[in-house]
Parts: sequence; C-alpha cells; structure tokens
Amino acid sequence: MKFYITTPLYYINAEPHIGHTYTTIAADTLARFYRMLGYDVFFLTGTDEHGQKISEAAKKQGITPEQLADKNSKTYKNLWDDLNISYTRFIRTSEEVHKEVVKKVFSRLLEKGDLYKGEYSGYYCVHCESYFIPEDENNPLCPDCKRMMSKISEPSYFFRISKYAGALQKHIENSNLIKPDFRKNEILNLIKTGLRDISTTRKNVEWGIPSPTPEKYTIYVWFDALLNYLSGIGYLHNDEIFSRYWPADVQLIGKDIIRFHDIIWPSILLALDLPIPDKIFAHGWWVIGQDKISKSKGNVVSPQKLIGEYGLDAFRFFLLREIPFGSDGEYSDKAFKKRYNSDLVNDLGNLVNRTVNLVETKLSGTIKSATSESKLLQMTRNIYKTYEEKLREISFSEALEEIWKLVSLLNRFLDERAPWRESCNNINHILYNVVCGIKDTALLLAPFIPSTSVKIWKILGMQDNPLEKRFTAVGEKLPDVLKTTKREILFPRKK
Ligand SMILES: [Zn+2]
Repeated sequence: MKFYITTPLYYINAEPHIGHTYTTIAADTLARFYRMLGYDVFFLTGTDEHGQKISEAAKKQGITPEQLADKNSKTYKNLWDDLNISYTRFIRTSEEVHKEVVKKVFSRLLEKGDLYKGEYSGYYCVHCESYFIPEDENNPLCPDCKRMMSKISEPSYFFRISKYAGALQKHIENSNLIKPDFRKNEILNLIKTGLRDISTTRKNVEWGIPSPTPEKYTIYVWFDALLNYLSGIGYLHNDEIFSRYWPADVQLIGKDIIRFHDIIWPSILLALDLPIPDKIFAHGWWVIGQDKISKSKGNVVSPQKLIGEYGLDAFRFFLLREIPFGSDGEYSDKAFKKRYNSDLVNDLGNLVNRTVNLVETKLSGTIKSATSESKLLQMTRNIYKTYEEKLREISFSEALEEIWKLVSLLNRFLDERAPWRESCNNINHILYNVVCGIKDTALLLAPFIPSTSVKIWKILGMQDNPLEKRFTAVGEKLPDVLKTTKREILFPRKK
C-alpha cells in the first residue's frame, strides 16, 4: 500500500513563517504515521520560484532571479531539516526536469484544444500572482491582499476550464476530494456561478518557463507550480515511480489557495485524463488578534525563536494540539506557555520522570518481566484504535487527545497502586505495567514529536528505535529484563 502526500510549494519571495511550518509539520506527521502503519510513503515538498514578484524582488536586491531563488530555496530546505521534516523529495520549480514536464503538459493541452489563444484584458495582482476582477473599477484593489492591481491587456493562451466544470462538479459531489466537509459547498457554489477560462501565459514576464509556442511568452506561475505534484514523482519521465504513487492520497494546503487547488488543479488533471487525488485538505490560519499571520502584514511569529526557547518538539506539538486542523486559531505566547507547562511538563514529562525515578529507587533500575494488567492493555488498544481513526481523518488535535488519555490513565494507575508505600509488595508488577504503557505512549507520539519519542525509549532502556517500529508493537510486552538509563528532564518548566 502506498501513500503520497504533498505540501504546497512555498513561494520564495520571503522568509518562511509559522504558516509554512504548520502545513509542513502536519504533512510530516501524516507521512510518519503512514510509515508506521506500514505504507510505502512518498512525501513531496519544495519551492515555487518563478514569476513577476521574484524578478522584481531580485532587482531590488541587485541580484538575478536565479540567485534569489537559490538563496531563498535553501532557507526553506534548511528550515525543514531543522524541523525534522522527513520529506522524500524537495522539488524546485527551477529544476530542468520540472520545466520539461510543464512544457510537455502545455503542448499536450494545446494539441488537444484545451489551450487556445485569446486576449486577456483585466487586472492582475503582482503580490498574489493572481488574476482578479476588482469590485470597483475606479479603485481596483486586490480582493485578497487589498493592494492596488495593475490593468493588463495582452494576448494570452487560455485554459478551457469551462469545458471541465460539469465533470468537476460531479466528481466533487460524489467524492471526498474537498476537505474539511464545510468547504465542499463553498467550492460547488463557485463552480455553479460559472468558471471563466484561465490565462496561462504572461507576455512581459521573463522569469518563468518559456511557453512552447511561436511567441515568446512565459507560463503563468500558478499553472507551472501546480504541475510539481506530477513532475515531482516522475510524470512523463519516470513511469515506474509515477504509476506507483499517483494519484495523491492527501494534499495539504492553506485555505487561501483553495481556488487554485480545488478547482483549477483537478480541472487540469481531467484535461490530462489523470485520476484526481483522494483528498485535498485546507487548513485554517494562525492569527494574532484578527490578522492572518503573514509576512505581508508584518505580524510574523518566528518559528526559530519559539524553537530556541521551548525546543522543536514543543513547537511541533503546540501547532497540532492547540486548534483543530481546518479551523483558524489565535496564536499567543501565553497560550503556548500554558499548553507546554500543562501537557508536556506536568502530564507527560512528570509521568516519565517519576516512573523512572521509582524504578531507580525501588528496583535498582531494573524491571523484570511481569504479567500485563488486562484491563490496562485493553484500554491502551482502544485508545490506539481511536487514535488511528482520528489520524486517518486528519484530525491531529483529537489524535493527541487520545494519547493524553493514555498518559492520564497511567498517571492514575500509578497514583492508585502507589508503589512508594512501605507495605507495597508487587512493585515490579506495577512499574512493569506503567513502563509498558509509557513505551506505547512514545510509539503513538512518534509521528508528532519524533525526537522525544526516541528519548523516552532510551530513558526506559529500550534497545531499538521507535521510529523504525510499526504500530503493531503497541501492547507488545517489554524485554525480559529492562535496565533504565540516566534520567533526563524531557521538558523543563517555564516560568
Ligand atoms: Zn493581492
């Protein structure tokens, strides 16, 4: 079984912010989850590098667009490595292989008559790299970013999206393509109001893929970028890989780009006679006050700063735990600290710390094999079952809630059995069961906070690596003799 997951390609005009890291960490968590289920996973991410905005930004910095693209693409790649992102391939739209695929697709659609020459007359927002119809012609502001748009009038090749509107509507109605569910009607309404054919070339933008046409146009940056989901897994150049992974199983996007991904993208696939992805999931925005966090508004929360202060896993955990994926969430330092101290320090960190402390003081650091408490084992299995369901539904916060049910269960078990009592005569049995539960907790945590999961297994004295395990190891017995290692505070308390 295979699982192909993608993030959007990030546009390299500015530094990555919390919004980019959010999508990528979510995708990484799903990729890791499916690997632990035993799937053959392909995880694609990368950078979108063409377009007018990039050439203008490069000019301002006195460098070439290529130099700007190299520099900024590297920033993203380095950050993904720092964030422990387990991508299979990091694609850049300036790669030759991608450019060739885009040109081939363009030619194919031309031959088919799905691209035709016309005249584009209307508005263009350079900041959003989007064609828009302004509400007020006298004051043509971009409906998305509220910047002034430019009026352009130029010959262009149009994609006949109108031809596919009916088929697309039917597909959306009869599938689970659009996620979360509440977005489905929004998209269907857009389709029903009528789709206008889309301009796919720019006449005077040099930094782009040249169109395979007699005129010297470049291909519109969005048309170019969307095709990365195909070129990144071998479309038209490596049939073996392509047929193994296409169609995509989950495509994660921010809710600001649904028009491109839920309408234009599947229409291109219909035109190419390719199967449509299983799910395209749009998540919400992190906001401060009422503003979306984005570089254009200057209210940027620095991922690096938070990671420096709290650690990478606390950051990964907070993003996926604090708000339901798909909804908007308000970011605040206060909420971050509160979540950190309550869930990671008090619940999880304390459970590991006091259990290992008891093993050290009461059992000289060695646990011997014992019988498993069947009730505890059954509850663990039930929790795992719901956890798996929730992650398959892409509900990270609910999956984490399940893990915390297990953490509370183990804390309660320890409190009730109180192996620190003088009169306690089955200390090994009690601690064996708690340690076994912590071992399982770490397995469930592995997709979310992989380094912590590894640390926990090490502290417990487990010899192997939880990241290389399958979930079938949940509920498995501990080794016959387990020697805990030096204790380490997983999450220091923050004042
Ligand atoms: Zn705009």
